[in-house]
Amino acid sequence: MKVSELYKKGGRTLSFEIFPPKKDEELKNIDDTLEVLCELKPDFISVTFGAGGSCNCNKTIELARKIKERYRVEPVVHLTCLHYDKKEIDEFAEVLRSSGIENILALRGDEREDIPKKRDFTYASDLTAYLKERYDFCILGACYPERHPESENMVDEIKHLKLKVNAGTEVLLSQLFFDNQIFYDLRERCRIADIDVPVIPGIMPVVKAAQIKRMVSMCNASFPLRFQKIVDRYEDNKEALFDAGMAYALSQIIDLLVSDTDGIHLYTMNNPRIARRICEGIRNIV
Ligand code: FAD
Repeated sequence: MKVSELYKKGGRTLSFEIFPPKKDEELKNIDDTLEVLCELKPDFISVTFGAGGSCNCNKTIELARKIKERYRVEPVVHLTCLHYDKKEIDEFAEVLRSSGIENILALRGDEREDIPKKRDFTYASDLTAYLKERYDFCILGACYPERHPESENMVDEIKHLKLKVNAGTEVLLSQLFFDNQIFYDLRERCRIADIDVPVIPGIMPVVKAAQIKRMVSMCNASFPLRFQKIVDRYEDNKEALFDAGMAYALSQIIDLLVSDTDGIHLYTMNNPRIARRICEGIRNIV
């Protein structure tokens, strides 16, 4: 099923992001995680993609197939384009099509020193337009409440987002954020720019000290004072940080749900304990 259909029915989605583990033996353990995640009946699960290698041995596709065939949950396959040419993208698309996978999160990806950049695609919107012309996938795209690190300002960010949607993006999944007002501002800017597709907030419960350092260096996400106080107080107390990080994420989610968002996309970090705690916390919230 195409995930865009879920929003046409006026429904609100709960979805998870997982990543394919690097080691083969961890790939076996992912079954335990999937068991729990799928029991929670998400509307879809998105699987991240690491550029490099061909589609024949691609772990993202292997995991997405498993989610669809064994667990009967709709997968969304992330696909980056900076390091692939049209022929290689066609190979990915054909494998996805023949596996019955209908949803792609079309991404540009980041430059990497170890893999040469190719010239067929410059932006995610190029990949989106290419896939839309040739195939029948539902295309999702990324958006950035605090703007992409390469964007000079929010005006350019929204202009480029509009191009992405005009190219055929049907649903936007957001980068993580810790201040809901920043997401509401993005949603408002989208409305003003006539970007008329569901914009789904991405929430990552911060439950480990190492994660916090990564957030600061990688994703531009600003920490509100209320969140910073949790980090300062519990950085060195594993269990307390887990509880406080989960409570913070839950309060973000409840505020988003009562503010008419079209769904919640949860960055699970392959940790079923996180997904379960969130689902329990919003069990009776409609
Ligand atoms: P784009 O939409 O192409 O934007 C990149 C930059 O170019 C932005 O600054 C944008 O404003 C600018 N731009 C866009 N179009 C134009 C234009 N026409 N002219 C000038 N400038 C333009 N990375 C992975 O490697 N694997 C993953 O699985 C993955 N999953 C992700 C999931 C989500 C929900 C998000 C938010 C990000 C994910 N990423 C992933 C990271 C992503 O690949 C990087 O953030 C990357 O730097 C940008 O990708 P994009 O698709 O947003 O690029």
